Amino acid sequence: MRTVTHWIGGKPATGTSTRTSPVWNPATGQQQAEVLLGSAADVDTAVQAAAAAFETWSQSSLSQRTKVLFAFRELVNARTQELAEIVSDEHGKVVSDARGEVQRGLEVIEFACGIPQLLKGEYSDQVSSGVDLFSFREPLGVCAGITPFNFPAMVPMWMHPMAIACGNTFVLKPSERDPSTSTLVAELWAEAGLPDGVFNVVHGDKEAVDALLDHPDVAAVSFVGSTPIAKYIHQRGTANGKRVQALGGAKNHAIVLPDAGIDYASDHLVAAAFGSAGERCMAISAAVAVGGAADELVAAVSEKARGVKVGPGRAPESEMGPVITAAARERILGLIGSGAEQGATLAVDGRDLSVPGHEEGFFVGPTVIDDVSRDMDVYREEIFGPVLSVVRASTVEDAIALINSNPYGNGTAIFTSSGEAARQFQRGVKVGMIGVNVPIPVPMAYYSFGGWKDSLFGQSHIYGPEGIAFYSRAKVVTSRWPHVEQATGASYHFPTAT
Ligand code: NAD
Repeated sequence: MRTVTHWIGGKPATGTSTRTSPVWNPATGQQQAEVLLGSAADVDTAVQAAAAAFETWSQSSLSQRTKVLFAFRELVNARTQELAEIVSDEHGKVVSDARGEVQRGLEVIEFACGIPQLLKGEYSDQVSSGVDLFSFREPLGVCAGITPFNFPAMVPMWMHPMAIACGNTFVLKPSERDPSTSTLVAELWAEAGLPDGVFNVVHGDKEAVDALLDHPDVAAVSFVGSTPIAKYIHQRGTANGKRVQALGGAKNHAIVLPDAGIDYASDHLVAAAFGSAGERCMAISAAVAVGGAADELVAAVSEKARGVKVGPGRAPESEMGPVITAAARERILGLIGSGAEQGATLAVDGRDLSVPGHEEGFFVGPTVIDDVSRDMDVYREEIFGPVLSVVRASTVEDAIALINSNPYGNGTAIFTSSGEAARQFQRGVKVGMIGVNVPIPVPMAYYSFGGWKDSLFGQSHIYGPEGIAFYSRAKVVTSRWPHVEQATGASYHFPTAT
């Protein structure tokens, strides 16, 4: 059995803990590896390596840093297929989708390559007689990243290239369910010339996470995962005096107006609901059909859902793979059943899907549930599986009110041909990322990504300009260079400009 080990101080490390967790192949249902679950002592070793590396990396020139970042960009680009195959084997998503996530991670690396421009400070000449004022930004120290299973390449890349470009060092605690991508990423950083100890990986579960949250030498924590854990990370991390950004779960609605092209909207809805088996924080899980759009929409979406080719992620013809674990599958099947019990209509029921040759795999077929109301479990829970609920609303105002009454506020979309309705929607919803005829509005790397309400704890969105601000802090210098003979004597009033 292959064992996935930590990466500390520029090389693989087994650490002190002998606890392990299975890594499944979701397409076959078989265990393919085990991953070490690091102890507090292992976390301490990694943080110490990162703290030692910070002494020199934080002093490296912008030119030295960009040289490493450009080399890392080239290596990730060249090894995209290999990274995507590792992601597919452990997560289950189809390889083309996994390539897409590596591509979106690559875009953040490319943004970080512009760090000399991004870290520029400000300068004001002669703010008072003979006095100049300027600001510049410095790194924080050791930063930690704690990441979810659903994007094992991209989500960590939302963090470590940005932190490292700013002059910090990094300890990543990836999801224990698909840990191997991080090992290759660590090797690529080393090959790119990153000094030992700047990027470290400690695998693990709550024990390792708590050790990071409590470690006095960790300055900042970036977390992406489910809402209860995000809230916990934010509370414990900030109580320990750390800077914390914690992105949580989601329940993303797409509203479809009667003036939308139903063919266009249904194509995009099925892709956004069933791509990656619905295991995306930006997946559309609730379609809100407004007015007369509902029946035609449900018919179109149902037909397309039945046509999705479900199979192992490595098979080129597959459009949707399995879900991550047997437990996730059971949970999703239970929620679909609860929808039927609570009065919804199963327009397409994916519970009985079996993939020939992969009968033990963790597959769930695309499922469309109609006539869903806001009190049902399928509406209230983040299902995180290939399930699209259809809720009916009378007006745009009702649809916006529904979205705003939901505790989550990650992403949302509107399908319409009316600019007026789109503008009303984009101004009215309490959600961080909005698509207009775009179902999965993940911002480009030069903007920032983040939700509102229970989808984000802490005020900082991730990557882009807010990422630079998160991973650095400002110094403002007020300076005067008088001739010694100009000394005028001490003044005891509060400094004011003259
Ligand atoms: P998760 O919250 O179970 O795990 C995330 C990380 O937290 C993992 O590294 C895990 O090891 C760790 N963790 C789990 N339980 C813990 C505990 N009790 N104490 C300390 N650490 C713990 O999330 P997941 O199932 O891996 O990922 C899916 C979730 O992530 C979904 O809710 C999804 O919406 C969310 N997500 C959000 C975004 C976003 O940008 N907002 C992006 C991707 C995923």
